[in-house]
Amino acid sequence: MDCLFCKIIEKKIPSKIVYEDNRMLAFEDINPQAPIHILIIPKKHISTVLEIAPADNELVGSMLQAANNIARDKGVADRGFRLVFNCNREAGQEVFHIHLHLFAGRQMHWPPG
Ligand code: AMP
Ligand code: ZN
Repeated sequence: MDCLFCKIIEKKIPSKIVYEDNRMLAFEDINPQAPIHILIIPKKHISTVLEIAPADNELVGSMLQAANNIARDKGVADRGFRLVFNCNREAGQEVFHIHLHLFAGRQMHWPPG
């Protein structure tokens, strides 16, 4: 399987890691859309959020906990931050290994583009 984010997990492709444990990795987005733009990914390959199984619920919940901790560490928790999962083509998903986008550091707009 040729997956960019699995290669990042395996350190075959470099990334700027902000958090890592045995189940997940968080790293800076290479093309940031906000002053803080971090991707949080499970080490388990899951292609889209549609493939999240009930057995993955704790893993995905832990990704939210990691996002909260990163927002606190970066000092943006109280100001605000946005978490996004894109799923499939119309949402703009480009990498088919689920990733939680964390955006912060500027005013976000609504509705999103
Ligand atoms: P999505 O459009 O939701 O699939 O988001 C994919 C994200 O991965 C985009 O924001 C890209 O900028 C980001 N990305 C692609 N390649 C890399 C890379 N090598 N390192 C870090 N982020 C990347
Ligand atoms: Zn993968």
